[in-house]
Amino acid sequence: MDTTSFIKKTIGGVMQVEPALTPPPANAEQTSFAKKPKVGSSKSKKREIPEGLWIKCPACDVMIFDKELDENLQVCPKCQQHLPIASRERIHSLVETCTFQEMDAEMVSVDILKFASYKSKLERDRKATMLKDAVVTGIGKIGVHTVALGVMDFRFMGGSMGAVVGEKLTRLIERGTEGGWPVIVISTSGGARMQEGAFSLMQMAKTSAALAYHAKARLPYLSVLTNNSYGGVMASYAALGDLNLAEPGAMIGFAGPRVIKDTTHADLPPGFQTAEFLLDHGLIDAIVHRKEMKAQLIKYFDYFAAGKKHPAA
Ligand SMILES: [Zn+2]
Repeated sequence: MDTTSFIKKTIGGVMQVEPALTPPPANAEQTSFAKKPKVGSSKSKKREIPEGLWIKCPACDVMIFDKELDENLQVCPKCQQHLPIASRERIHSLVETCTFQEMDAEMVSVDILKFASYKSKLERDRKATMLKDAVVTGIGKIGVHTVALGVMDFRFMGGSMGAVVGEKLTRLIERGTEGGWPVIVISTSGGARMQEGAFSLMQMAKTSAALAYHAKARLPYLSVLTNNSYGGVMASYAALGDLNLAEPGAMIGFAGPRVIKDTTHADLPPGFQTAEFLLDHGLIDAIVHRKEMKAQLIKYFDYFAAGKKHPAA
């Protein structure tokens, strides 16, 4: 209980100011709070629920124990809302244990344009996420299938694509082509990284060209779109899958709905830019629940590999 609670007391319109060190009066229990303490706050009498262990689902408002959310791959157990998931957590949920070999783990962005506060933002997100940039790439096994897997992370500068994201994905795709492996990229991004200007935009062409060579080698590329996938990412590699999959409820588009509404002055249809809307309109091929993603990917790869003699089969 802090001492400031006892400084001001209004009795009959007269304000009495007491020294901060005055001991609380005997009836302090009833009168000492300037306002009613919030339930669940640190000043609440009952502290049976430790703070920080409960997360409120933004869709259905139910309180979820964070351990339960971790076990459920950050999917709300009540309404199945797919909450953001860290890239490494997602990789862990997909690949066979100890098979993932990360590529280019030390590659970092350079503030080549001297963009205001870019360096400090990079530092901030590196510390907060323990990542070097917004994508983790590597080779791993899903079931019996060796795959080149890239997973974006929205926590790092909104999953924006700068030179590092573009270069890491290009190298991943090229490695997939060399190895004769399928490529999977799991996207979540606000788009190109404005702090790297045209260098970010060049990544669109570079990643797309690498995918063209991968396709020429008759190898499958699966793009998985998660909430949210926008801008230059959606306008390049994220939309180029032989199969474009999405998580339920994911928001997917080029420009956001507000920009489109302001530009066109038209009312947008209900559910505009949701995965479900885009499935109905043919932009994506399937919606796959996060917990079923691994099994579904294995099914697709089994299908793609049918007729080919698989070394591990
Ligand atoms: Zn929910």
